[in-house]
Amino acid sequence: MAHTTRYAFDGCTRLAQDIGANPASISRVLSGKRSPSFALMCALAAALEQELGRPLDPRELLTFSGNYPTPSVCELCGCQGCAYTQREQRSASLRKSSAQKRKPLE
Ligand SMILES: [Zn+2]
Repeated sequence: MAHTTRYAFDGCTRLAQDIGANPASISRVLSGKRSPSFALMCALAAALEQELGRPLDPRELLTFSGNYPTPSVCELCGCQGCAYTQREQRSASLRKSSAQKRKPLE
C-alpha cells in the first residue's frame, strides 16, 4: 500500500472504507494473522486495481511460499517515484555520501 497514493497513509482504514470491510480485519490480513476469504481477496484486488489503474493478479497479493510472481513491488505497481522508492534512494545516497567522508582506518 506504500506504493499507492490513496493507501500510503492510513491505508487499512481507507481500504476498508473502499471495500466495505472492517479496518481490523484488513489489518489482520495484512499482518498475516488471518487468511482472507475469497470474497475479501477479490475486493482487495479490485480496490488496488482501481488505485493502480492496471490489472492485478491476486497471486501478487497473497503467498504461501514467500515468493511472488513479480519480485519488485514498485515494478508491480508501476511506481514512478513513490515515497518508498524516494526514501530508499535518499538512504542509499546518504550511505554513499557518508562512506566517502569517512577517514580510512589506520
Ligand atoms: Zn514503489
